[in-house]
Amino acid sequence: MSRYWSELVKTLTPYVPGEQPQQAGLVKLNTNESPYPPSPAVMAAVAETSNDSLRRYPDPQCVELRSVFAQQHGLSLDQVFVGNGSDEVLALTFLALLKHDRPLYFPDITYSFYHVWAQLCQIEYRTVPLAKDFTVPSTAFPADSGGVILPNPNAPTGIFLPLPQVRTLLGRCRGAVVVIDEAYVDFGGESATSLIDEFDNLLVIQTLSKSRSLAGLRVGFAAGQPHLIEALDRVKNSFNSYPVDAIAQRAATAALRDDVYYQGCIERIVSARTVLETQLRELGFAVLPSAANFLMVTHPERSAEALFDHLRQHNVLVRYFDKPRIDGYLRISVGTPDECEAVIAALRLLS
Ligand code: PMP
Repeated sequence: MSRYWSELVKTLTPYVPGEQPQQAGLVKLNTNESPYPPSPAVMAAVAETSNDSLRRYPDPQCVELRSVFAQQHGLSLDQVFVGNGSDEVLALTFLALLKHDRPLYFPDITYSFYHVWAQLCQIEYRTVPLAKDFTVPSTAFPADSGGVILPNPNAPTGIFLPLPQVRTLLGRCRGAVVVIDEAYVDFGGESATSLIDEFDNLLVIQTLSKSRSLAGLRVGFAAGQPHLIEALDRVKNSFNSYPVDAIAQRAATAALRDDVYYQGCIERIVSARTVLETQLRELGFAVLPSAANFLMVTHPERSAEALFDHLRQHNVLVRYFDKPRIDGYLRISVGTPDECEAVIAALRLLS
């Protein structure tokens, strides 16, 4: 605390990201990154952009990158926004589209950054309890809400809300923007971008950090009808003209174009997820049905915190949330088959 702090800063409880330890040999399965490297085309794009052209500012509109994303999702250029990771796109969305007199709604168990952005933007919010089985009760969001935001698949549960239910939610909350955060959609979900033309209140958020192996590059997207994209542009251009640097624009474009490479990575991750799930069940764990690149698991006899410590002692880092309803669970990112095997080997030592 300092006397120079603004009143707002004094009220903040910032988000705490998952640990990013630099320890060699650690099996790092705590922040849902891809275990596979970016595509060779991305590496080439980074090398090609690392030259004299960096003297210049990048394209503030990211036209090429947005065009490729738009084309791949059957959208037009003015239906796509790009920012510095989906975290930035989400933060701008809170300010541009979710700050109203009526409260914002999101699930009680969800991406914990939503609370932080609501606080930063001074948005009143309420949480909707997930059902007992951790599914999203899509009809529990009030029709007169000031906004709705949820990840789909949800985080940290990994559970996917089928598109017919997303459609019901969009129709029910027609008077407010409904944000579907699709950070993990490529691992078994189905994108709501197909509903954009039908619903003028839908904003879909995606990222290159997970299925595209580019968490370090910081590129995220929003897709929606042009009036929503214009709102994001207005806030972005009142804050930072160039949030996506020249290297990131070129490399992200190359990543989108190399879909074949990434589909191969996704297939490997999904098949490792199936094996890991089976092995964890054999060890007595209950596993939530995941459409994401992580598993949310609990053991009927062992404390999640003790399991977290045990894995850490065996050089495996997973995520433990000391929060109501999920403090009995661990979230394990799906790694390579070898990394998943390290989790199982360490857990077998307990039995
Ligand atoms: N949404 C969800 C649900 C996430 O779990 C994450 C990753 N922490 C993000 C958005 C942000 O991802 P990024 O900023 O790397 O695009």
